[in-house]
Amino acid sequence: MNGLGGRIALVTGASQGIGRACALALAKTGVTVALAARNEAKLAEVKAEIEAAGGQAEAFALDVASEESIQAGAKTVLERFGKVEILVNNAGITRDKLAMQMKREDWDDVLSTNLTGAFLLTQALLRPMLKNRWGRIINISSIVGRTGQAGQVNYAASKAGLIGMTRALAREVASRGITVNAVTPGYIVTPMTAVLDEKQTSAMMAQIPLGRAGTEADVAPAVVFLASEGAGYITGHVLDVNGGMFMGG
Ligand code: NAP
Repeated sequence: MNGLGGRIALVTGASQGIGRACALALAKTGVTVALAARNEAKLAEVKAEIEAAGGQAEAFALDVASEESIQAGAKTVLERFGKVEILVNNAGITRDKLAMQMKREDWDDVLSTNLTGAFLLTQALLRPMLKNRWGRIINISSIVGRTGQAGQVNYAASKAGLIGMTRALAREVASRGITVNAVTPGYIVTPMTAVLDEKQTSAMMAQIPLGRAGTEADVAPAVVFLASEGAGYITGHVLDVNGGMFMGG
C-alpha cells in the first residue's frame, strides 16, 4: 500500500507509549519491527500484540544511555536481519527541574538518553543503510525543542539537538537515498505525561486549537508516512504533530 511491506525497522522505546504505537503501526503495513527498550517483559507483550495481529516483530533489550548496549544491540539486530532500513529514534526521558536547581546528573541523563543515544545508534546502523542505498531515519523530537519550556532546559536542549542532528545528517546521506526527518509531538497522553498535574495539563490544553490532547494514535501515522516510499522526497523536515499548539512552519 505504502511500499513498506517486507522492510526492516528498528524502533527504540518500543515498550510503551509513542514507540509502541509506531511499532504496531509499522508492523500493520508489513514491516518487520525490531523492538528495542530496557523493559523486556513489556517488549514481549508488544511483540505478542504485533504477532496476534498477523505482523512480525522481535524484541531486543537495549539501553540507549549505554554505548556498550547500543553497540551490542545494533550488532545483534544486524546479525538477525542483515540490515535496518527504517530507524525510529524514539526512546526518551524527562528529568524536569528549574535550571537553578538542576543537577549535572539530570542534564547528563537526559542528554545521553535523548540525544547521544540517538546519534550512537544511528551511527551503528548507518553503514549497511548507506550500502543499501535506501533508508529512513525518523527522530522523535518534541514541540519543546522548538519553543522551549520552563523546567526543561535539559529536555529542550536534547530535543532541539535532535532537530539539528536531523538536518545535518539529512544533508550527509541524501545522495544515498536515505531521508532523515524529525517528528515534534505536542502534548500526547502517554506514561511520560501521566505524571503532569492538573494545572500543567490544563495550561497546555488551553493552548491547543484542536481542543484535545494528542494520543499515540495521532503520532504513529506521521512516522509511518515519513517511512513510506511516498515520502522519499522529504528530508530534513520537522513535522509538527501538536493539534496546532505551535505553528512554527
Ligand atoms: P514514555 O511512555 O515514557 O516511553 C518512553 C520509552 O522510551 C519507553 O518505551 C522506554 O522504555 C524508552 N526508554 C527510556 N529510556 C530508555 C533507555 N535508556 N534505553 C532504551 N529505551 C529507553 O514516553 P512517550 O510519551 O511515549 O515518549 C516517546 C518519545 O516521544 C520520547 O522521546 C518523548 O520525549 C517524545 N515526546 C513525547 C511527548 C508526549 O507528550 N508524550 C511529546 C513530545 C515528544 P524502557 O523503560 O522499557 O527502556
